[in-house]
Amino acid sequence: MSKPLIEIKGLKKSFGSHTVLKDISLQVARGTVVALIGPSGSGKSTLLRCINLLTVPEGGEITVGEHTMAFSGKHTRLPGDRVLSGFRAKTGMVFQHFNLFPHMTALQNVMEGPVTVLRKSKAEAEATARALLTKVGLIERADMYPDKLSGGQKQRVAIARALAMQPSVMLFDEATSALDPELVAEVLGVIKSLAREGMTMILVTHEIAFAREVADQIIFMRDGVVAESGPPEEVIDNPRNDATRAFLGRFA
Ligand code: ADP
Ligand code: MG
Repeated sequence: MSKPLIEIKGLKKSFGSHTVLKDISLQVARGTVVALIGPSGSGKSTLLRCINLLTVPEGGEITVGEHTMAFSGKHTRLPGDRVLSGFRAKTGMVFQHFNLFPHMTALQNVMEGPVTVLRKSKAEAEATARALLTKVGLIERADMYPDKLSGGQKQRVAIARALAMQPSVMLFDEATSALDPELVAEVLGVIKSLAREGMTMILVTHEIAFAREVADQIIFMRDGVVAESGPPEEVIDNPRNDATRAFLGRFA
């Protein structure tokens, strides 16, 4: 296998005396999709937040592309702002609750990062933002504010906003969990088209059928460890681990 785009080795994270990630290791090849599944509280969000350094782990190593960061307890020193924001910009994050800027239109939301962080000209940022809003099917809503958009539309703007930073990987944390059921498909459709285009993605999701369809690799987390991982035909259709089987049984 060629060098993975993302490699995590021995990742550890505690909150106080509670160890939430215990020695997590995984690899994500470029152009592939990983679905992270597992019970609530198993550490899925914490793992995603560590990959984008919203949370700083206390042990292990994270590599994204050419950048590697090693963590060792309180001695971990984050790199300077420039390197840190470069590392963060490589990982586009989409949250359950959209987190759009409420005082900005859809278009302005998508332009904001490229203008302020990437220092693009307004004209260039606007052209890119319009292309991305077209891609997620929302160009006709470009001038609307978030409170005039449905949940599915807000989430599609959030995806366009993350893509505008030209990330090398997209991280989705339960991107459809807050949506009314009839709005889930439009967001999954956008994620599926990104997968088809070869975007590398890590999806935390409870949409097991979707995970089976779109993911190359399923990682089942439980109590802060990777309990089982492999292709969907193994982990979802023929789980080896009793805990995986019990978890999936809830969706059957
Ligand atoms: P999941 O996304 O799989 O539901 P999380 O990563 O959100 O799991 O949480 C894993 C555990 O870590 C939970 O027990 C949660 O309460 C705890 N946790 C998460 N974030 C924090 C935090 N900032 N401070 C303290 N505990 C936290
Ligand atoms: Mg979570």
